[in-house]
Amino acid sequence: MSQLPLRAQLASALGRTAATLSRATGRGDGSVIGGRVGLMLEPDLLRKLAADREVVLVSATNGKTTTTRLITSALQELGGVATNAYGANMPAGHVSALSSAKDAPYGVLEVDEKYLPEVLDTTGAGIVCLMNLSRDQMDRAAEIWLLAQKWRRALDGRPAHVIANCDDPLVTWGASTAARVTWVAAGQRWREDSWCCPECGGPLDRAGSGAIGQGGGVTQVTDASWACRECTFHRPEPNWVLDGEDVVDPRGARWRLDLQLPGQANRANAAMALATVEALGLDAGRALPRLRTVTSVAGRYTTVERDGRVLRLLLSKNPAGWLEAFDVADPALPIILSVNAQGPDGRDTSWLWDVDYRILTGRPVYVTGERRLDLALRLAVAGVPFQLCESFEQALTALRPGRIDVIANYTAFQQIRAEFGRAV
Ligand SMILES: [Zn+2]
Repeated sequence: MSQLPLRAQLASALGRTAATLSRATGRGDGSVIGGRVGLMLEPDLLRKLAADREVVLVSATNGKTTTTRLITSALQELGGVATNAYGANMPAGHVSALSSAKDAPYGVLEVDEKYLPEVLDTTGAGIVCLMNLSRDQMDRAAEIWLLAQKWRRALDGRPAHVIANCDDPLVTWGASTAARVTWVAAGQRWREDSWCCPECGGPLDRAGSGAIGQGGGVTQVTDASWACRECTFHRPEPNWVLDGEDVVDPRGARWRLDLQLPGQANRANAAMALATVEALGLDAGRALPRLRTVTSVAGRYTTVERDGRVLRLLLSKNPAGWLEAFDVADPALPIILSVNAQGPDGRDTSWLWDVDYRILTGRPVYVTGERRLDLALRLAVAGVPFQLCESFEQALTALRPGRIDVIANYTAFQQIRAEFGRAV
């Protein structure tokens, strides 16, 4: 890539120094502070760092960190990749990611849904991968509709090639103003936010929805088509289709995913990643072996051990995320649930009432976290037996040695991770 102007070089170097200092003093991985320092010195730094690279933006309510990681792993087949691996998904994190790999020809950036228009404008990204939109913490359907509307405006009139999940009506609507769209039938488990047509507010009719979300085992998306009853808005014909364990590419070739990452949500992430990298000239045959090397993402799906108890850590930040975690959790194993309500989690835990916990009936359930009483009430109302624990430690002690699943929301997950070391 061409040389950065002197001021941008300096801003980028000082930002990296700040990040190193932040890491050295134990204040996290430093990517946000480093980027902030850089942007303070050179407000146009992100634009300059993105110039002359092939930039991919990845946005969604759930799965963006994992999909960013999968796309990054695959693109390494073609060359160096700069990426925000730790989920620092706002412009300061993007500056830090691009500064740390200045010569990489590719940039793969996870982007907070709200920041997508701004980051698209600044980076001039050629590829945008959009997966799902659902209520997150306190958000409700009206807010995510506004987000989708902002995506529409941001994409309108731009040359970006969008890779979008056509099984999510709101994502479809958000993506459909783009000049070019590759549609991926990647499935949609959480449907509570898409009963209405985003175009006219009329009811959406679905076909073949009965096979989705039943029980904790493998689920099949048999026929995911949908259409508005009152206007012409309907599911576009997909170019790529996720079909159980396989992905079918636009030429009809079927690829067995065989990922190490568990669950249907990760197969959906992989389908999106394959379609995205093909837009950059990398076919599924070359990309798949690299996707299969990914075993955990920022501590998610990691297995850690203490005193003979083997814990698998699952992160779940919102109602749709809980359904994904239930799909991955093993029904034969005991499960620890930990819920906090600090800033990053959202202080309001009313979302607990959006999740159907009855799927946990029959397995030993241990409840902990700062908001364990909120969760306990929710489980009691759902008729799910559980044991209340003052601390994660107490839950562990109560369990016999063996395998255990853990589902935690954001800060609860980070606390458990910190206790077991920051395994990635
Ligand atoms: Zn409609």
